[in-house]
Amino acid sequence: MLNMYIGGRWVPSVSGETREIVNPATGETISLVAEGNAEDARLAIEAARKAFDDSEWTSVPARQRAKLLTRLAELIEANAAELAKTETANNGKPYVDAEDDAYTAANVFRYYAGLIGKPAGQAYDLPGSYEGKVVREPIGVCGQIIPWNFPLMMAAWKLAPCLAAGNTSVFKPAELTPLTAIRLFELIEEAGFPPGVANLLLGNGKTAGAELAENMDVDKIAFTGGTETGRSIMRAAASNIKKLSLELGGKSANIVFEDADLEIATDYAVFGIFLNAGQVCASGSRLLIQESIYDEFIELLVSKVRRIRVGNGMNPETEMGPLVSKSHLDKVLNYIEVGRREGATLLTGGNRLTEGELGKGYFVEPTIFTDIRSDMRIYREEIFGPVLVVQKFKDEDDAVRLANDSIYGLAGAVFTSNAEISMRVAKRVRVGIFWVNAYHPAFMEAPWGGYKQSGIGRELGTFGLEEYTEVKQIVHNLEPKPLGYYHWNK
Ligand code: NAD
Repeated sequence: MLNMYIGGRWVPSVSGETREIVNPATGETISLVAEGNAEDARLAIEAARKAFDDSEWTSVPARQRAKLLTRLAELIEANAAELAKTETANNGKPYVDAEDDAYTAANVFRYYAGLIGKPAGQAYDLPGSYEGKVVREPIGVCGQIIPWNFPLMMAAWKLAPCLAAGNTSVFKPAELTPLTAIRLFELIEEAGFPPGVANLLLGNGKTAGAELAENMDVDKIAFTGGTETGRSIMRAAASNIKKLSLELGGKSANIVFEDADLEIATDYAVFGIFLNAGQVCASGSRLLIQESIYDEFIELLVSKVRRIRVGNGMNPETEMGPLVSKSHLDKVLNYIEVGRREGATLLTGGNRLTEGELGKGYFVEPTIFTDIRSDMRIYREEIFGPVLVVQKFKDEDDAVRLANDSIYGLAGAVFTSNAEISMRVAKRVRVGIFWVNAYHPAFMEAPWGGYKQSGIGRELGTFGLEEYTEVKQIVHNLEPKPLGYYHWNK
């Protein structure tokens, strides 16, 4: 049985409840973990509060903080293969992708270690005898909640800037995929972080997670997950006006103009939606193709999509794994059914894969719908699975109008060989992340986050660090003298 890490100790849940963890490629139970609830959340918050308020962490010199983060990065790298295997077993993603996530996680800790101690404030020459400076300070106790699609990498995105800035954390992975987080916290312990600085809370969202959002002793809540959950977290966070950052859903448009290189654009269109079986917030789930190349593009696209190798992520040939759980499989299959009923044309895929070993897991064929109307649910809603909807557009204005026709504004891309088109479209599409002649590259140096209902705030880069700081102005009076405001000075 695997436990939670609270106040520097590995502990079972107060209730004694446990949860079975399943490999989505085989349907087999692979582990048993503690299942925490609101009571465990309160204990973890208490530990984080104490570590922050008693200066167990805030008095650690910045250089020492950087050293701890660097040491953790080294430990993640040294254990990357094992972490990747665990990730594939728990989440289903191809091993190469899980390995990539593990190295990215290490590099994120290293990157934020590097930012510690860099010049961060400002100084002002103010009127009269005043001089001011602005400093950035940690916010305090941070509740951090992540989803199941990139369990280890998202943990790093959350924990690295939070700890680098000098906060303490209560971190909750998704209940379906806690295994790499548990291993990560063993490495946090091995790296030598003081007790209570980073706490691992296991359990579901409605009990353990909701307590993090509600609790008066949590100063900031950082959440990645669905937009509806984000909305309820935002409401709960109003309790004590918590600082808030939200990375939510998307329905991102990938736009292909007639002058694009079709070989390259089709490759990225496939990767854009089918990476991680479509379970990526920034997935290019709406493909917009200029009408003059539509037929040619679709033919090439479908021929590629039909050749994607779907299977167990531990098979080195696999290019797309299963969906994360039976209930998510059902949700995605239901969307495919909705698409059919709404009258969209199913161009390829559409079924659960049931042959042989695949039948035990939660595999769905890569799926493409065409003949899409803008009132269709499969066009408007985030499916979070390997389902692509394709539309035609006439010209640049039409493409931009369609791309912006969404409540979401996370990501987007354009494929064209015309620099002016790419620059104009990049400027007009209302999203936080936009790629030109590429889809999906994410860099820890650059801010990640969405416009509109895709979220609030940014992760990664220097923006990501700032999200974990409060801004304080300190004003010095260099020549104090009697104030002269009251009658007794006059
Ligand atoms: P989810 O919102 O159901 O769950 C995410 C996390 O929130 C889990 O840890 C869950 O336990 C917790 N949670 C659930 N209800 C809660 C509540 N009421 N209070 C507090 N915590 C709660 O999302 P999911 O199904 O796990 O993940 C898929 C969603 O995540 C998609 O919508 C996707 O777009 C989004 N996502 C966004 C990004 C991004 O960077 N914008 C990245 C990855 C995933």
